[in-house]
Amino acid sequence: MPFHNPTAGLEVICGPMFSGKSEELIRRLRRARIARQRVQVYKPRIDDRYAADRIVSHSEQSLEALVVRDVEDIRKRLDDRTEVVGIDEVQFFDRTIIDLCERLANMGRRVIVAGLDLDYRGVPFEPVPQLMAVAEFVTKTLAVCHRCGAPASRTQRLVASEERIVVGALDAYEARCRRCFEPDLPSQLAMDLNAAHT
Ligand code: ADP
Ligand code: MG
Ligand code: ZN
Repeated sequence: MPFHNPTAGLEVICGPMFSGKSEELIRRLRRARIARQRVQVYKPRIDDRYAADRIVSHSEQSLEALVVRDVEDIRKRLDDRTEVVGIDEVQFFDRTIIDLCERLANMGRRVIVAGLDLDYRGVPFEPVPQLMAVAEFVTKTLAVCHRCGAPASRTQRLVASEERIVVGALDAYEARCRRCFEPDLPSQLAMDLNAAHT
């Protein structure tokens, strides 16, 4: 039975690494708690760079979270009484997350998700573009370009890998502005490595 909640809907927080997505997500969820709303927070298991059962920002803010394997796992662990659902690193879930977020919002929940809008090549990172399209609110956060100090919208990969996801390597990425971003750098590094081995 849907309950009336004036803040029901979907909010997306997106941007490159180091732009303050987790910080902003934590801020909104803390305020919801202050308002005595029932909050549940999720993060995918793939991201175990820090404390496993918390979402953590690079500025060392943190909030306890349920670590889940997939979208079905979120569904299973959802409490009927939950009013606000927070999800960090949402780019690591498959496309069924779109349907789940829509359904939760339609049922009267406030759903707040945070994640990368672009991958290391500068290509939109599904399912985030689709979530942005159906959301009521979209916040784009910018980092500071590691090279020049300008507002940074891109995530630069500094290691040689063609995998879309490289986790556990914090020094493998930095924030870059559009001008300083080098989308071909990882493959260039891979070629240099190959050349060095021959
Ligand atoms: P995200 O979740 O988007 O990766 P976090 O919320 O974890 O970002 O971290 C944001 C914090 O990271 C900032 O408040 C700042 O303290 C720190 N930080 C480190 N490097 C940068 C950078 N290049 N640009 C902006 N903030 C940075
Ligand atoms: Mg984060
Ligand atoms: Zn720059």
